[in-house]
Amino acid sequence: MHALITGGGIGGLTAALCLAHAGHRVSLFEQVNEIGEIGAGIQLSPNCSRVLHHLGLQQALEAIAFLPQHTEMRHWKNAKFIASTPLGDTVHSRFGAPYYHVHRADLMRVLFDAASAVPAIALHTGARVNSVVDRGDRVELTSDAQTVEGDLLIGADGIHSTIRAALWGEAEPAFTGNIAWRALVPAERLPADLVRPASTVWWGPGRHFVHYYVRRGELVNCVCVVEKTGWEIESWTARGERAELEADFAGWHNNVQQLIKQADEASLFKWALFDRPPMPQWGKGCITLLGDACHPTLPFMAQGAAMAIEDAAVLAACIEKAGEVEGALQRYEDLRRDRTAGIQRGSRRNAKIFHLSGVQAWLRNRAAARAGGRTLDGLFAYDALSVADTQG
Ligand code: FAD
Repeated sequence: MHALITGGGIGGLTAALCLAHAGHRVSLFEQVNEIGEIGAGIQLSPNCSRVLHHLGLQQALEAIAFLPQHTEMRHWKNAKFIASTPLGDTVHSRFGAPYYHVHRADLMRVLFDAASAVPAIALHTGARVNSVVDRGDRVELTSDAQTVEGDLLIGADGIHSTIRAALWGEAEPAFTGNIAWRALVPAERLPADLVRPASTVWWGPGRHFVHYYVRRGELVNCVCVVEKTGWEIESWTARGERAELEADFAGWHNNVQQLIKQADEASLFKWALFDRPPMPQWGKGCITLLGDACHPTLPFMAQGAAMAIEDAAVLAACIEKAGEVEGALQRYEDLRRDRTAGIQRGSRRNAKIFHLSGVQAWLRNRAAARAGGRTLDGLFAYDALSVADTQG
């Protein structure tokens, strides 16, 4: 089959690799000229690293990643340890795939280089897709560069998806009331024990602060989320002022203050977080959606990209099994809708839970400590490579 893909983000590139791996021809259209030089950290849990390994990317990922040993939740002011979940070898042996921390630009380079090396994948950059026409058993796509026909079209074009709008009409995503700051700190600027080999979340009233190593431990990625209104720009490239970030986390533990102080000036960005509720239906006929285009996911479970990667594997498996487009796309959607909707809702819930104060925060901390280390098992155990064989 000839698959057309709109969007060369993590989801679109992974879908291209999965489909080519299954023997199909792919034409991918990405609006920007240069793929992937933006963003900061991404956590890749075993449910998605399993797919990337299946695509032959293990070595390339090991060369760019940091392997965290555990998660840890801490009190915003006194650093008191609240709860932890093992990662590292425990997760790798239990789920057969590792938990990686990577720089987003490094991951994009790995995916882009892998896709560029596959003759069955044609990558068109600087090619914004403007319209699509469903012709029954064929689909026609018009980009800035050309008009092409394929057997199916995958809209992997993010939260403002052109393909979603073409199928279901324009609908703006809603501002969640949260701003995410991103910052990178060169590890050499920090005292040796300030950042542990962990995915650390500091929980505080109305805000939280996440940090972890990326790029083999050379950089510390910080994501700092604050409930705030009055600024609603959603962009990977909107710069922020250190003074504002310092004010947002005034009074927080000294480790957090030091990270903000030592952050690279050029790495300070802020992003207003938007989302949409789960969609009851994603695609129609031989057109479907994938990743943030159909289930934009807040970063509070670190699962948005993971869901896009899982989508890609399940979609390719459904096409391989059905051998016929419409049935395959329907099955893909049926297999994926509930899981992705659950992650969307869970991420929204975490936005509230992470930011509790007073007695509610105390109750949350006690529940988190009692839950022990197994709360992520259901998430990590999902095998996108075999779900089309085993379910339904
Ligand atoms: P996108 O990354 O949005 O890619 C869409 C692509 O389509 C873009 O390249 C865009 O240029 C292109 N495009 C759009 N319109 C068109 C068009 N008309 N024609 C051609 N091309 C088009 N997820 C995790 O799994 N782990 C994390 O740790 C994590 N941390 C995050 C931290 C922050 C601060 C944020 C904001 C998100 C985080 N996420 C994380 C979520 C993750 O970044 C997204 O879910 C993921 O990038 C979605 O990938 P995608 O390919 O579906 O969409």
